[in-house]
Amino acid sequence: MNALSINPARSLATQLLLPLLLVGTLAAIAGGLALYQQHLSTARTDLANHAERLARTVILAAEANPQAEPLERFTTVLGAESRIRRVIVVHGNPMRVLAAHRVAWRGLSLSELPLKSAPRLLDEAAGGVEPKVAYEDRNDYIDVALPLHLTRLMGMDNGEIPRGAALLTYDAGPALQHARAEARHFAIGFAIAVLLLVTLGYGVIRWRVLAPLYAIGRAIDQRGDSAPDLSASLTRRDEIGHLSRILERLSAAERREWEQRNFLDTLIETIPNPIFYKDAQGRYQGCNQAFLDLVGKDHGSVIGRTVDEIWPPDLARRYREADDELLASGGRQRYETQVEKGDCERRDVLFDKALLTGKDGHAIGLIGTITDITERKALEAQLAHEASHDALTGLFNRSHVERATLHAAKEVDRYGGELSGLLFDLDHFKQVNDDYGHAAGDEVLRRLARLLHHRLRETDIAGRWGGEEFLVILPHTDLGGARQVAEDLRHALEGEDMPEVGRVTMSIGCSEYRPGEGTDPFIRRLDDALYAAKDAGRNQVHCFSPEETD
Ligand code: GH3
Ligand code: MG
Ligand code: MG
Repeated sequence: MNALSINPARSLATQLLLPLLLVGTLAAIAGGLALYQQHLSTARTDLANHAERLARTVILAAEANPQAEPLERFTTVLGAESRIRRVIVVHGNPMRVLAAHRVAWRGLSLSELPLKSAPRLLDEAAGGVEPKVAYEDRNDYIDVALPLHLTRLMGMDNGEIPRGAALLTYDAGPALQHARAEARHFAIGFAIAVLLLVTLGYGVIRWRVLAPLYAIGRAIDQRGDSAPDLSASLTRRDEIGHLSRILERLSAAERREWEQRNFLDTLIETIPNPIFYKDAQGRYQGCNQAFLDLVGKDHGSVIGRTVDEIWPPDLARRYREADDELLASGGRQRYETQVEKGDCERRDVLFDKALLTGKDGHAIGLIGTITDITERKALEAQLAHEASHDALTGLFNRSHVERATLHAAKEVDRYGGELSGLLFDLDHFKQVNDDYGHAAGDEVLRRLARLLHHRLRETDIAGRWGGEEFLVILPHTDLGGARQVAEDLRHALEGEDMPEVGRVTMSIGCSEYRPGEGTDPFIRRLDDALYAAKDAGRNQVHCFSPEETD
């Protein structure tokens, strides 16, 4: 459910907000500062113009009445005005103070004036036509100096070039203070407006872009094991709405796919047979509960693994070879094998498998069902055993021992070697039944079978020929060997103490097979030998060599 989890530091909101705030703040500071400077500079220019207009009144007064006394009164009156800090009129060559707001300065040369920049300004103004303006930032003073033309009025015509100028120093402090406060308000107002705009812009982006994107993200996040629902319910007709509708279409397609998969999962789970499927690399991709029950494993220990990672080597090799063959040649496949349940129990199974192909026909995996045939196999084995064995004694029955005799005889016919047989019959067995009952007789037969089992070689074949008659086939044994075996058996039975019954004996006919003669003459000769043994008094072995029947 964390498919779209977002690191807050990487979120679009943060990535947008930070640069926006940064740019907004910088714009607010820079704009505010520029506004402040602009406002202040305008105020200073206005004040300088005002100071110049005042200075011109001094010029007018000086030019109208260039007498020191009245001029001085004028300047003193003017200098009494609180905003006008200094009024000085200079004239002559070299220039000296004609009148000033301070009477004590009259007659001083420029260099004698106890002022810093005013003498230089007066000197510069006297030579030209333009007003000279200087700002003294420490006191917020504005100095304005204008040229003075007194030549004609004062009748100075001695050839000297008369020079004159008037200077007025204006105290712009209070006005500039007011202007600064005003500029500050403008700048702060501007900065606040910019920041508000930035915030508003961010809000709009968040509302119109980020919030819908998050809604789409949440819809995608909510995909889980259940049917997918990618609907963000955005009805807008812009790009984001379009994206939302694409997601809804995807959702519908995915939902159909999910439903089909769910149908298949349910179907597979409902079928009682074990089912599994693997990809083209032989990794288990899915299975039903019946499969897990059969192999005694849980889902996690099967899915995503190959047969070599799960099963014992012999079974894994068998499965892998069959899988490879199916993936290579396609179609269907059926074979009997085994599966291991838990760590020890193995069960016989029948695999039915089919290739899974992709759209272009190439193999993408395989699917298989398993039928547990353990019981059937056991039944078959039991039936096969019963078909070839005698129920009472556990020895082979007559038909099997006949077939075995035929087989052994054919071997000798083809490859040579020796083959002998024994046919024996219990002596006076009818009497045993009569005296001790049929059950006791049966027990005698079972004991005889056990005796044969213990005394014969594994390659020998012993079968019940009928009633209390038995046939033993001795491969690779000549007549002499057969006689020894017969004597050994006869002796062993004679020495066995049967419960209730006591001592039981048997008569044995023995002979050797003559290559090429066929089994009938061989068996007949054994029969004859048995009867000869009976006739000779029972509890004895009688052997017929093959030639004796010729
Ligand atoms: P002998 O062979 O020495 O000539 O005498 P016998 O009494 O054994 O005679 P025979 O072989 O002809 O009789 C066979 C008897 O074996 C008849 C039957 O009662 C008994 N018999 C045959 N099959 C079975 C069996 O499955 N169980 C029991 N208890 N008896 C059987
Ligand atoms: Mg008999
Ligand atoms: Mg008998």
